[in-house]
Amino acid sequence: MFTLGDLPYAYNALEPFIDERTMQIHHDKHHAAYVKNLNDALAGQEELLSLPVDTLIGDLSKVPEVVRTKVRNNGGGHANHTMFWSMMAAPSEGSDKPSGALSEVIDKTFGDLATFQEKFSQAGVGRFGSGWVWLVADKGALTITDTPNQDSPLMDGRVPILGLDVWEHAYYLKYQNLRADYIKAWWNVVNWREVERRFNTIT
Ligand code: MN
Repeated sequence: MFTLGDLPYAYNALEPFIDERTMQIHHDKHHAAYVKNLNDALAGQEELLSLPVDTLIGDLSKVPEVVRTKVRNNGGGHANHTMFWSMMAAPSEGSDKPSGALSEVIDKTFGDLATFQEKFSQAGVGRFGSGWVWLVADKGALTITDTPNQDSPLMDGRVPILGLDVWEHAYYLKYQNLRADYIKAWWNVVNWREVERRFNTIT
């Protein structure tokens, strides 16, 4: 069985950038539904239900074809949101700037942090419909990519170290149709310590 973890901070911790009501609905309704639907899709399949969700969605060929799309969407939703919560933090707690090796690779790859943020933001604004933007690390090299729906880079064997949810449910209450404003605000709550931790784990 997959379970919905608590947020690693209070619902209002990301105010004023991400509002409390959005966090409540996003976590307690949307994320909860992905977990429930994933468990329902895999009912009785104890071996698959016992896998870490990242492992499950990393090899969907092991999932019976009849439920594969459900597992792709809801397993992806569970994995993506679990990661998303951990990649944000209250503005005073680690949401300043990347440092160390990650900072060096960002500068080397994109020129500087501001240019990286601009390109990542553009990918978010440009993502048509629902989906995610990712910073993916592959053998120490970083690339920006985006995916539709709840697809994850993990489904292609790539490891995301930063992800941004650009589904309307992530921002519509506060920002309505202004996705670019949501993305601009979101940078204030990025938990760079967690991004660094992920980067250091795979390089
Ligand atoms: Mn979402």
